[in-house]
Amino acid sequence: MAEYDYDVLVIGAGPGGYVAAIRAAQLGLKTACAEGRETLGGTCLNVGCIPSKALLHGSEKFDEAVNGTFAGYGIKTGKIELDLDAMLAQKSDSVKGLTQGIEFLFKKNKVTWLKGYANFEDAHTVTVAGQKVSAKNIVIATGSSVTPLPGVTVDNDAGVIVDSTGALSLKKVPDHLVVIGGGVIGLELGSVWRRLGAKVTVVEFLDQLLPGMDGDVRKEAAKIFKKQGMDLKLSTKVTGVAVDGGKATLTVEPSKGGDAATIEADCVLVAIGRRPNVDGLGLDKIGLELNARGQIETDHNFATKVDGVWAIGDVIPGPMLAHKAEDEGIAVAENIAGLTGIVNHDIIPGVVYTMPEFAGVGLTEEAAKERGEIKVGKFPMMANSRAKTNHEPDGFVKVISDAKTDRVLGVWCIASVAGTMIAQAAQAMEFGATSEDIAYTCHAHPTHSEALKEAAMAVTGKPIHM
Ligand code: FAD
Ligand code: NAD
Repeated sequence: MAEYDYDVLVIGAGPGGYVAAIRAAQLGLKTACAEGRETLGGTCLNVGCIPSKALLHGSEKFDEAVNGTFAGYGIKTGKIELDLDAMLAQKSDSVKGLTQGIEFLFKKNKVTWLKGYANFEDAHTVTVAGQKVSAKNIVIATGSSVTPLPGVTVDNDAGVIVDSTGALSLKKVPDHLVVIGGGVIGLELGSVWRRLGAKVTVVEFLDQLLPGMDGDVRKEAAKIFKKQGMDLKLSTKVTGVAVDGGKATLTVEPSKGGDAATIEADCVLVAIGRRPNVDGLGLDKIGLELNARGQIETDHNFATKVDGVWAIGDVIPGPMLAHKAEDEGIAVAENIAGLTGIVNHDIIPGVVYTMPEFAGVGLTEEAAKERGEIKVGKFPMMANSRAKTNHEPDGFVKVISDAKTDRVLGVWCIASVAGTMIAQAAQAMEFGATSEDIAYTCHAHPTHSEALKEAAMAVTGKPIHM
């Protein structure tokens, strides 16, 4: 009789966990995945990447039709109306299709779905739905959830103070939505509801939006979102929110202290970050301690300090991104199988899916300068023939390279399709490209990606179209 029920048991079926489980099964390991949600796919498929992109795409179509972009192409429309229920339904359809797709992939790859939340008994045993299950290797992929703002109670059903999950299903377009936090979620979901007709105010603690991104990109983001009609209150903190009769009153003051003011809203979105899911896992039973940020630390193979226990995704340090979790899922399964699974954490692209999109990979100009001498090339989307023809003038591409070796250290991009453009930058950097390598690579014309080639040419001061 086998010593354990499974070779690998993954806890959590988000993009980290489900990918790890499928890869482990593909490698011939007997694999189970515990997931307590009704559907597979984790935050990303159920209440994250996918539903937010479904609403971003739908609201972008609505905005184009209503706010005159169509007219610029000579397309006349009649009266345009929003059917919010239908827009929310198409979002739910996308979620349903994709979560069911993971269930199909589990069956196809013979991964057993253990329905329920798992907690450790010892390093090789968990309890799921009252059953003890053992495995030689256990991968913690429990993800993250919304960071609460002290003193502010989220009630997604009431719809007045909501988190990202609530903001994906508002029953009506708010008159005034106040977003607390000018990060990725605040700007993506703020954009959705602004396009659908809400006045949107973003309250951000720091002096710029989008922490972690390149300084030029952050400054440009503020200009672009202001131009789109968002009211930005930077260097401002929320000190309290009172709810009365379906209305909220926020008290705000300068981040460094000063006179308080109030803002009235009929909806408040709390989007101040996410924190790892570790409560109730029983980590104390296996002697696994957390770091100061409440995360599980691993080595570069994703092994924790406890033999046989591994961890990946949002629950460990690094950017909380689905593709980072997925790549770690593949790597951990390969390491468990005795292969060499590697993730290059220096080259993880990040994308904000607004219009235009904001994307980056590698070092910011500020971080690169701290490491040594650099060269920077920049090219505006206004001078890119395709962006100009498509009436998409906002943005630029910026290439940062090492002054001595010319090796590309970072690429930043604001463009309608920046999320797609950044893939080639990531690939070039993964291959150790110089800016010259990108500049002398033939890019199809007319494409937005030519702006990346021109920005690379600008590193040596020789772009053609500028
Ligand atoms: P998760 O996706 O959080 O999955 C963890 C799963 O584990 C959950 O399903 C949970 O139910 C389950 N679980 C937890 N504890 C247990 C337990 N004890 N037993 C069993 N199961 C358990 N990232 C991007 O890259 N691109 C985007 O466009 C993007 N958009 C986002 C939009 C929003 C609104 C949000 C909230 C997030 C977005 N993210 C995006 C972030 C992305 O969703 C996460 O980085 C990603 O889902 C992390 O994957 P994970 O597998 O680590 O965890
Ligand atoms: P975030 O870290 O991107 O932004 C949170 C913002 O809130 C920061 O700018 C921070 O300075 C601000 N803040 C914190 N406390 C505040 C306060 N009291 N008052 C005002 N501002 C305050 O976090 P998020 O937007 O909640 O997103 C969470 C995670 O989900 C991110 O790590 C992100 O990577 C991931 N995500 C990714 C995508 C994407 O890849 N497109 C989309 C959504 C979410």
